[in-house]
Amino acid sequence: MTFKSLGLSDAILKAVQKKGYNNPSTIQIKAIPLILKGEDILASAQTGTGKTAGFTLPMLQILSQQSRWKRRPLRALVLTPTRELAAQVYANIKEYGEFLDIRSTVVFGGVNQKPQVRALRNGVDILVATPGRLLDLHSQKAFSLARIEILVLDEADRMLDMGFLRDIKKILSFMPEKRQNLLFSATFSKEIKKLAGSFLHHPKMIEATPENTTAEKVNQKAYRVDKSKKTTLLIQFILEGNWTQVLVFTRTKHGANKLCKKLLTAGITSAAIHGNKSQAARTKALAEFKKNEIRVLVATDIAARGLDIPLLPHVVNFELPNVPEDYVHRIGRTGRAGASGEAISFVSQEEKTYLKDIEKLLDQKIETENVIGFEPDNSQNKVDQSSQKGSQQKSNRRDGKKKYYDRTKKNKKRTNFNNRNR
Ligand code: AMP
Repeated sequence: MTFKSLGLSDAILKAVQKKGYNNPSTIQIKAIPLILKGEDILASAQTGTGKTAGFTLPMLQILSQQSRWKRRPLRALVLTPTRELAAQVYANIKEYGEFLDIRSTVVFGGVNQKPQVRALRNGVDILVATPGRLLDLHSQKAFSLARIEILVLDEADRMLDMGFLRDIKKILSFMPEKRQNLLFSATFSKEIKKLAGSFLHHPKMIEATPENTTAEKVNQKAYRVDKSKKTTLLIQFILEGNWTQVLVFTRTKHGANKLCKKLLTAGITSAAIHGNKSQAARTKALAEFKKNEIRVLVATDIAARGLDIPLLPHVVNFELPNVPEDYVHRIGRTGRAGASGEAISFVSQEEKTYLKDIEKLLDQKIETENVIGFEPDNSQNKVDQSSQKGSQQKSNRRDGKKKYYDRTKKNKKRTNFNNRNR
């Protein structure tokens, strides 16, 4: 299969060739012809499958075929959950559209609004945006969504995880009913299916990887590790394995900072990337990581979404995510665009249930082993448990009801806590 046979124009083929792509990826083969026909799409595709080109190439072609405008109305909107992904999609649109008369821009929070407003007022065909800043600028009348012909929701599952559902609905209300809708998501929850049902018109379903599966070429392994020994083990793996580019996930922002400090003390160049860092700091850390100037990037789930780091060889789950779908996203950072990669998880005693949840979601067992000297220290627990057994039994009976109540409350809070802290 070639890009030409998918029906793409010469100007787009030239840009694709310049990028050095020889053959279209599975998602591109499936999505491009359907999008060119004007169909709505519901696509299951992780980052790393080439999904951005999958929607950008046909979108550029459709927009460039239409007559010239005196003053360009905004005709296509790409919504992404994070600033990084927005910047990345925008960079791709620029590259793929290099030989076309198409103007685009990107808006996201955390940076000065003025240049964004100026770019929008000059007239653009395509806008890439995160929902919050988009609504902010829309309320200032910096642009109109009344002429939108194509809407792309990229990483829709993450947008819902981040609580953007209300924003998305509001944005949809500013657009004309008649338009082409493309929805991309790595995982498919009930909520995503409901959202898809609410605005897609007879969508064609396409899949680059089956639902909730991880990239085939990713070698996944888990190690049972005592919580207090995780940092030492990570340092050992990095140094002994001579790993040069490692993406490490922690569950919280505080955890990311703490780990980063310890790695630096051990002489391993690293930076942390999370929601409390300024946009400038995040961009700098990512650029340095990509250029191999730093060895380790420690990230929380939200900050790492959509990062395009080609050929990333190692991903480490320093802590397992308590939302199992996040595991799929995390390890989607390795084994990208056909390359193979390794995803390692450190599992402490308390995280065993998270591992089970992940295995259930993937319908796959993850190979798990011990590393001598780093195993969870159960012996201490046993001593504590036996000495406290008598009095514990009484207090267990007393606390039984309360504990059940606390657990239920905790489960309910799980997702909210997760989103606030990463
Ligand atoms: P994406 O899933 O859109 O984030 O793309 C993942 C990576 O694959 C990016 O670095 C793209 O530049 C690259 N890529 C996209 N399409 C192709 C292709 N057909 N051949 C090789 N690499 C590609």
